[in-house]
Amino acid sequence: MPSDVSSVIDRPLRRPTSPDDVPASETSSIPLVDLRAQYQSIAAELDDAIRGCLSRADFILGDDVSAFEREFAAFCEVRHCVGVGSGTDALHLACRALGIGPSDEVIIPAFTFVATAAGVCLAGAKPVLVDVDRDTATLDPECLGQAVTSKTKAIIPVHLYGQCAEMESISAWARERGLHVIEDAAQAHGAGYQRRKAGALGDVACFSFYPGKNLGAYGDAGCLTTDSEALAERLQSLRNWGAIQKYHHQHLGFNSRLDTIQAAILRVKLKHLVGWNEARSRIASRYTELLGRRSELTTPIVAPGRKHVFHLYVVRCADRDARLRRLNDRGIAAALHYPLPVHLLPAYQWLGYTRGAFPNAEAHAATCLSLPLYPELTDAQVAWIVEQL
Ligand SMILES: *Cc1c(COP(=O)(O)O)cnc(C)c1O
Repeated sequence: MPSDVSSVIDRPLRRPTSPDDVPASETSSIPLVDLRAQYQSIAAELDDAIRGCLSRADFILGDDVSAFEREFAAFCEVRHCVGVGSGTDALHLACRALGIGPSDEVIIPAFTFVATAAGVCLAGAKPVLVDVDRDTATLDPECLGQAVTSKTKAIIPVHLYGQCAEMESISAWARERGLHVIEDAAQAHGAGYQRRKAGALGDVACFSFYPGKNLGAYGDAGCLTTDSEALAERLQSLRNWGAIQKYHHQHLGFNSRLDTIQAAILRVKLKHLVGWNEARSRIASRYTELLGRRSELTTPIVAPGRKHVFHLYVVRCADRDARLRRLNDRGIAAALHYPLPVHLLPAYQWLGYTRGAFPNAEAHAATCLSLPLYPELTDAQVAWIVEQL
């Protein structure tokens, strides 16, 4: 778990009216996300849900797993949801379920969390990178043409920071060439694109419930959503040792089930997700209002037709490292998502890309700065952060 998550502090949830009224306890240390405050706000419900699971002792594929899968599918407005062990496993199993493996290529954006690339590699396939949009930092559909080969099987657009990628052009382009579209929706629970929800925009979508995500479990967890019954059945089998019934192993499978306890926690939290996303959005608008007048900072852009759920609030600035240091020195856990694009990570040098290959991805990595954002963050804290920035 990153230090920004573990450095959470106990802090009363007061809402002072102006920065001058901010008690020292509210400004002395502000985490990037505050999971303790969230737990305190729904502790009774969560404790009940966990106790229920303990007393039933149905820890593997118990009732809460199937109930959560139904509820999350309904939330995403898709037919099926399959719970798995993590977002990374979801990406890996999505590739496997679509028959993607060695000698296949999958196009992904150069600027994303490393798991997007790792999921492809775990299936034995090769990630092929493309640059991202200058403004939204999501996969640039204009770049797809340079990346496609006869080995390309799928594209994985990433809904980065809580905003959907340009799905209309990406899907149309994929459809013409018979390629699959796998959404990496790990940062986009509840996000929207035109009239549809993230999770319903491709052949299959991958979600992470890592604790710090908009919908987070209390450990690792993830799921896939799809409208395809055949794909859902394949995924149910792959996550459970490739079984089609007990001890009848049809495929090379894995042990990657969503824990029943995590599903019970997620069912409680799912009821609050819309409200939490609204709070995130409101806080993001507040940041943008306060920061918008400052020419040295670029605030996040919400592209037309998209509902942004602000998993992260990321500004861009030239003197990024100095600002990051200043905020951290003052106890504000600003962070970088991400300091290096995939092609410059040591683990991915074997892909053979060099510096300069993806100029927008490199520019985002050099200038991005994530400010604290979580539903419990107060207006006064936002004002304080902006002042320190
Ligand atoms: C968090 C994340 C993942 C991986 O999820 P895990 O549950 O941590 O394995 C994948 N892709 C993106 C874009 C993420 O942010």
